This record gives sequence, structure tokens and C-alpha cells, in this order.
Amino acid sequence: MAASSNDTVQQLQKIVDDAYAKFKGVQEGKNADYIPYLATVPSELFGLAIVTADGQEVTAGDVDYSFAIESISKPFTMAMVMEEQGLDAVYEKIGVEPTGMPFNSILAIELNPKRSINPLVNAGAIASVSMLEAKDADERWQKILDGYSAYAGEPLKLINDVYVSEAETNYRNRAIANLLYAYDRLYSDPMEANDVYTKQCSVGVTARQLAMMGATLANGGVNPKTGKRVLREDYVDEVLAVMLMAGFYDESGEWAYRTGLPGKTGVGGGIVAVVPGQLAIVGFSPRLNEAGNSVRAMKAIQYIGEQLKDNIFFDCAR
Ligand code: GLU
Repeated sequence: MAASSNDTVQQLQKIVDDAYAKFKGVQEGKNADYIPYLATVPSELFGLAIVTADGQEVTAGDVDYSFAIESISKPFTMAMVMEEQGLDAVYEKIGVEPTGMPFNSILAIELNPKRSINPLVNAGAIASVSMLEAKDADERWQKILDGYSAYAGEPLKLINDVYVSEAETNYRNRAIANLLYAYDRLYSDPMEANDVYTKQCSVGVTARQLAMMGATLANGGVNPKTGKRVLREDYVDEVLAVMLMAGFYDESGEWAYRTGLPGKTGVGGGIVAVVPGQLAIVGFSPRLNEAGNSVRAMKAIQYIGEQLKDNIFFDCAR
């Protein structure tokens, strides 16, 4: 894409400022509390960030607060498995169908012949972790952290308090990992894969960092800041396709219908959405709706998408 002009950046800033003002007062939803740490994150935090495919940044609000990436990690690990083992490996060993069920559904595993079903629900995400080539858990975890850092264009870190809180309470994910293993749909030791998955969900990102991760996808797999290729260009569409179909838990269809934007949400309150070839939009605010999606972030990103369609990026948002 051509470098964003000053005009474009100014227009984006106005759109982001408007979205921030419009949705800052929204009080609907509540913090996730099934992971005790998440209940303690200040609910009023609200940040919006856009990074363009050529690396320009536009922000409003709390964009330097480091929050738990949670499920937004899932497409990035999936992309790492694609990069390492190709598209067919993900299709055959995990699957790519949306489940239409909650992200940690055990029933979905029992009902679907592929079991793991999709890399963006917990079952498929733990399976993605288990597929990464590594000699042990430490190497697997380091590979994931280095991979995410390459997307962010700077070193990311574990939020240890999140990890401890999640590791103490993740009985359901342990059940999922064991069940998949029993069905031969998990490819390393189940408790090890689950532990590394718990760590990957506990990586801290700011809205700015996450927007740079998304902008790497918007920019065809090359990080706009470092200029390094992180993902093969011809795999980006597949990553975005899975995000569009399954990025918003059991609200994925509605999100795709309303915005047309591939995105991924996490119970830490973050959402990243990608306008291919153009930019990434991130919203962060901890209060979630029933499906587990940040209420303010969803509203703000949908609004920004509509404004982009009507203003500068006529042909891309839908
Ligand atoms: N670590 C969380 C879990 O596995 C991630 C959930 C999410 O963000 O959807 O329950």
C-alpha cells in the first residue's frame, strides 16, 4: 500500500477520537471472572489503536495498559503452525469449521467428527500448540513468545499473575486437552500442551502492540515496523478466513454480517480486526457481553469500520 498521507492519518485520528467519545460511557457487560485475575482489571479502561499497513499509528485512551492477550493469541499460533507445516496440516489435524458454540465447549468436541474443529476455539488452540515442533515445553513456549514478538515488532512478556491465576483454575481446559488426546487429536503430552496454551493466553499486550500484530496481517505478513516477513504472503488469506468465520465465539456470524472484518476477541477485553491491505483496528475494554466479547471494543470497531467505508477506505471494509 502507498504510504499513508498526513491527511489520511488526520482523518483516521478524527474517526478514532469520535469512536472513543461515543462509546466511553457504555457501561454494559462485566469483566470475565472465571479467571480470577481478570475480575481485578479496572473495568473503566478503554483504548483504541489503529496501525496502518505502512506503520502509521493512531490512538485514543488507554493504549499503553498491558492486558492479557487471551484468545487473541489463537490465530497467531495457528499462523505459526501454517508457516511451519503448511495449510493442509492445520486443515487435516485440527479443522477449520466454526462451531457455533462457546469457545470452551466440550459438547462441540463430542458432536464433531474432527473433535478439535477449529484453531480459534480452545480445543483447536490447544491442538495448535501441541503441533508446533519443539523438543520440550520450554522450547515450545519460547517459540510462541518469539513468534508473537515478531508480529508485534518488539519483545512481548508473560504477565505472570495472569498465568498463575489461570493455571490454578483451568480445569475445563485440562479436560479438553485430555479428551482430545484420547481421540488422537492432540499431538504432544496433553498437560504440557495445556500449560503452554495457558502461558500463551497470559502474554501481555498493549492496544498499540496488538494493533501492530494485526497490521502485520494487514500488510501481507510483513511487520510494518521491522520490515521482517513473519508469515508467508499466500497464507494470510487463510488466517483471515478463519478469523472471519470464528473470531467472535458464538457471535461470529453476526460480527461478519455486520462488519465484514476478520477479527479476534479475547476474554481479557481486547479485540483486533483487520482491513486487509490497509490497517488493523484494536479496541480494549474489560467489560464483556454474554458471548465473551468486549462491549465497548466491539461497538467502537464496528463504528470505525463503518466510517472507513464511508470515508477514506471506500473499497476495503466490506
Ligand atoms: N485462556 C482463556 C481460556 O482458555 C482464553 C479464553 C478466551 O479469551 O476466549 O479459557
